[in-house]
Amino acid sequence: MSQLRVNGVEKSRELMERARAVIPGGVNSPVRAFKAVGGSPRFISWAEGSRVHDCDGTIYIDYVGSWGPMILGHAHHEVVEAIREAAGHGTSYGAPTELEVRLAEKIRDFFPSIEKVRLVNSGTEATMSAIRLARAATGRSLIVKFDGCYHGHADSLLVQAGSGVATLGLPDSPGVPAAFTEHTLTLPFGDLEAVRQAFERHPEKIAAVILEPVTGNMGVVVPPREYLEGLLRLGDEHGAIVIFDEVMTGFRVAAGGAQERFGLKAPLTCLGKIVGGGLPIGAYGGKAEIMDLVAPAGPVYQAGTLSGNPLAVTAGLKTLEILERDDPYAALEEKTRLLGEGVLEQARRHGIPLQVQQCGSMFTAFFNENPVTAFASAKQSDTERYSRYFTGLLERGVYMAPSQFEAGFVSAAHSAADIEATIAEVGETLAEMAQDGPRAE
Ligand code: PLP
Repeated sequence: MSQLRVNGVEKSRELMERARAVIPGGVNSPVRAFKAVGGSPRFISWAEGSRVHDCDGTIYIDYVGSWGPMILGHAHHEVVEAIREAAGHGTSYGAPTELEVRLAEKIRDFFPSIEKVRLVNSGTEATMSAIRLARAATGRSLIVKFDGCYHGHADSLLVQAGSGVATLGLPDSPGVPAAFTEHTLTLPFGDLEAVRQAFERHPEKIAAVILEPVTGNMGVVVPPREYLEGLLRLGDEHGAIVIFDEVMTGFRVAAGGAQERFGLKAPLTCLGKIVGGGLPIGAYGGKAEIMDLVAPAGPVYQAGTLSGNPLAVTAGLKTLEILERDDPYAALEEKTRLLGEGVLEQARRHGIPLQVQQCGSMFTAFFNENPVTAFASAKQSDTERYSRYFTGLLERGVYMAPSQFEAGFVSAAHSAADIEATIAEVGETLAEMAQDGPRAE
């Protein structure tokens, strides 16, 4: 490896031991523990551009990007400068600021379906609050979600939830009373007929249908436009609110998220990740008549001590301003296409069945004989192979998502040389895997 530096993992191992003594499983979010792929999680010391640096001094080309927020790359100088300046003005007031108004207006500019928006602190809070609002607006209880879609860890949404939950093999979680999830219907992703039947079976009972319009949490699956359009139509026909969870896809698959990409408008939208520019923000918004039910305009209670936090809002606002100014989306998509093409080419050369699925700058390499269209087909992927791929790349200085059921992210900071170097390392890793043969058999 010419431009990367790969050292040992002694310090990371030591830190993991200390972490396990004081933090459950040593991490503050499960997928970071590498349980799905094995090995020792790397403790990161700092990051810049397309690179993360671990505490043992290894430098990686990073495709996790903090799980999506870092679309401009790490430590973008303008974002960092804006945060620095904001910090000097005080870090939280618990009172309204002009910054919040500007961010809300900016969100509305990017997402024409969002007439009004409420800022919260995470994607989980956004989806949880949107569900409460949809239930209040319709006076109904049932919600429909889809197998393999993850919407954060709120009780009612922690059912068949893909990603970390799929990786850990928990269909849902202990500690969630059955009564909390009995109002959640889980249907296969991509099957419009199943949704139509659910509406027929539960007339005037379904408050909301929530989905990732392009999934990332079972890996990247891009549904046909007709599916999304059909869901919106069914929602309209049956008086249910369709919630596009664009926490991952918002400002990512296009400036205006999946809604811009597909030319659609959702009644309610959830945002997170990029909207906070790497600091904690979530948001939910949509039609004014629905949003005006939220307190204090209306009776639906939802609040937050740090909501609209000036540092987070500053980071988000600056990120959106740069995205608007630089419009990196075509370049991002092209870089990601080149990466995918290179990876596929290497897989073909070494006779390893692989599907690269991409939407904008989100991608997943599925070790699968067939294209993945839903969670059932995602689960057919060879996770053992993925682990070897992940580990081989990590040891060569390329940091992919530590689970088969996740999206990878390319940032504006990834250079053509980064993409080339990554493809070369993928080639070496797959060659090694092909030589070893399928370990599981
Ligand atoms: N919704 C989607 C689509 C997500 O991908 C995530 C997190 O990955 C969430 C909601 C939850 O967001 P957070 O982790 O900020 O609570």
